[in-house]
Amino acid sequence: MLKLLIDKLENENRLTKEEFAILIDNATEEDRQYLFSKARKIKERYFGNKIYIRGLIEFTNYCKNDCYYCGIRRSNKEAERYRLTKDDILSCCETGYSLGFRTFVLQGGEDPYFNDERMTDIVSSIKERYSDCALTLSLGERSYESYKALYEAGADRYLLRHETADSGHYSKLHPEEMLLSTRKEALYALKEIGYQVGTGFMVGSPYQTTEHICTDLEFIADFKPHMVGIGPFIPHHNTPFKDFKAGSVELTLLLIGIIRLMLPCCLIPATTALGTLAATGREMGVLAGANVVMPNLSPSTVRNKYLLYDNKICTGDEAAECRMCLERRMNSIGSVIAVDRGDSPLVTSSI
Ligand code: SAH
Repeated sequence: MLKLLIDKLENENRLTKEEFAILIDNATEEDRQYLFSKARKIKERYFGNKIYIRGLIEFTNYCKNDCYYCGIRRSNKEAERYRLTKDDILSCCETGYSLGFRTFVLQGGEDPYFNDERMTDIVSSIKERYSDCALTLSLGERSYESYKALYEAGADRYLLRHETADSGHYSKLHPEEMLLSTRKEALYALKEIGYQVGTGFMVGSPYQTTEHICTDLEFIADFKPHMVGIGPFIPHHNTPFKDFKAGSVELTLLLIGIIRLMLPCCLIPATTALGTLAATGREMGVLAGANVVMPNLSPSTVRNKYLLYDNKICTGDEAAECRMCLERRMNSIGSVIAVDRGDSPLVTSSI
């Protein structure tokens, strides 16, 4: 029984690397349930039974990077590329606002077309029209000046997964021009500028070991992000990793529980990747300690083109369908969807 380790994690918000490894490799079903029930209690202390919704707008699938795991990498010549216009994006926000979204997430590949001039214009136009909404960006690596300009234009939050905190593993997932050190610098820059910052990693990415995951957990404990997104790796048929197997739902859930105990008031999404691998993956994610879901607001015409991995769910749905479907799913497990910005308690006066 690993109850003592789980109690220690709850009390001290972290474990040594060796202890994390024991928990990851040896947790029994009973240990898992013990962890998840603690994770739920802690979550309820800060957030009640509220689940925050973030409207995801996948606004470009052009990407200058060539990450080996990702379906929209530049070498995938079969990806049908698209960019939404500023008007398209604003109309997604309009739909989203009327469906009760108060956070919009603009996510895309690293697309040089969306330079600072175009991007700050989009950000300030959204914030002008929807001043009661939070705006999250997920645009990959940019310069300090660029992050600052976007923040000053009104962006509130930024999602940039570190992907793996082990530099050797990082170089197995990315071409040599991409470095873990650059990624970490970007994360520290975002925090210094004042963003609420999210990081995270894929579970079961090729070559990942338990030790790598322990390094990820240590990095997260040190960095103290406001948000942590983790989801299982899922192969994409047109990438160098097409023959690797997908990550494990069970391990993803265990890690959500562990991260909830490490960072009690963290915003943790139950990801689409989790929902892709298991029919009730997102419900299970919430029951393991997650408190965010990110329904898709992208226009249905482009949804089936933003394919990071195979078999992605909800690519044929309308925004309203996704919103209602997730509401039903959350209600079925005793949670309610919150209609407010859902800022991190670390930056509001509530703690
Ligand atoms: N270009 C932005 C957005 C990336 S897509 C950025 O660099 O941050 C968002 C996340 O999807 C990535 O951070 C990665 O962790 C995840 N992802 C990419 N390919 C994946 C795959 N094959 N399986 C599961 N998750 C994947």
